[in-house]
Formats: sequence, structure tokens, C-alpha cells
Amino acid sequence: MANHFSQLAKKSESNGATKKVSKEQTGAPSLEIYKLGDDVLRQNAKRISKVDDSIRNLAKEMLQSMYAAKGIGLAAPQIGINKELLVIDVNFEDSAADPLILINPEITDFGTTLNSYEEGCLSIPGVYLNVVRPSTIKLKFRDEMGRPRKMKADGLLARCIQHEMDHLNGVLFVDRVTSKEDLNTELIKEGFHAKDVIPIN
Ligand SMILES: [Zn+2]
Repeated sequence: MANHFSQLAKKSESNGATKKVSKEQTGAPSLEIYKLGDDVLRQNAKRISKVDDSIRNLAKEMLQSMYAAKGIGLAAPQIGINKELLVIDVNFEDSAADPLILINPEITDFGTTLNSYEEGCLSIPGVYLNVVRPSTIKLKFRDEMGRPRKMKADGLLARCIQHEMDHLNGVLFVDRVTSKEDLNTELIKEGFHAKDVIPIN
């Protein structure tokens, strides 16, 4: 998910001794991020059967690319990798906060309250539109050590997880936009094509 407040991001002190991925990435993302219209974004991702170093290294590379692109979430299908792997960091301004690495995530419960909020996506740069989603979720997943975990999320985190999990099913946030007029205007403005949207309903 793209972060439209990124220009407000404060520079944080980087600690050269840490093995954590620095949130201050400069230059272009190291991994190519596929864009709306590319078929790889429309595939179903596959479950990860073994969480090993190759998965951990992939997650690290995805975090670097996400920070470089000023995003708050990135799903493996966005870099052309057909696996159920997401990285998320809604606390990008806080260098001490750990990012989330979600492997084989499954939402086990949706709250009944819905809310509407503007979303963006690193695969559809420049396009920001309101999407209605449940405001709270419960989920289960495996962490980067392969351990089963459960969590509850609300607010921006719940929205970001749902947005990124859609990518695992080949769904993009523009598919969920109800205002077709706004959608077409935004897409054309940024050089995308309405024919590449697959409306959910
Ligand atoms: Zn996205």
C-alpha cells in the first residue's frame, strides 16, 4: 500500500550495527514492482510450505524495496513472486518499531463495522481513492521463523493487511472502488487504463 503522507516522514537516526532493515532507503527500489495492467498481479499466490532463509531473505529485500518506494505494505505478487508473503510497516516514521512479516496469512474474523478511507498502491502509483472495508480483523499467519501467530488489528493496520492480502488473490484496491467516475478520472490522470480494473461487484 502506498503512503500518501510519506512526504511528512521524518528522517530517523540509522543504527549501522543493527541487522534490521534500515527504514531510510535511498535510490530506486531494488526489486521491480509490477504495475496495474501486468498479468502477474492477477494470479493467486501459493502457500509457503517451508519458512527458510530464502523466504527470510526475500522478506528483507521486499522491506528494502517497500521503504525505498515510500510504501507501508508490499505483497510478493507485486514483485512477480507467486507466494503468500507480505511485509507491512505502518510505523515507518518510528525507526525502532519492527515491521510485520506475514506468511500464509488468513483472516479468521471480520468486524461488523465498515469504514471508508483513501488507499494507494505501489502498483498503481499516483492513484488514491476511497475504499470501504471492515475496520477490524482477526488473523492468523506464520512469522519469519515459521511460528504460528494470531493477531487483532484495527485502523490503518487492519486496512493495510486487507489491502495486501487482496494482492494474494489477484485483487487490487481499484477493483473495490465504488465511485466509477472518480476511478476513471484518477486512472486516466496517471496513465492507467480502466480496462485493467476487474470490479468486485
Ligand atoms: Zn497494493
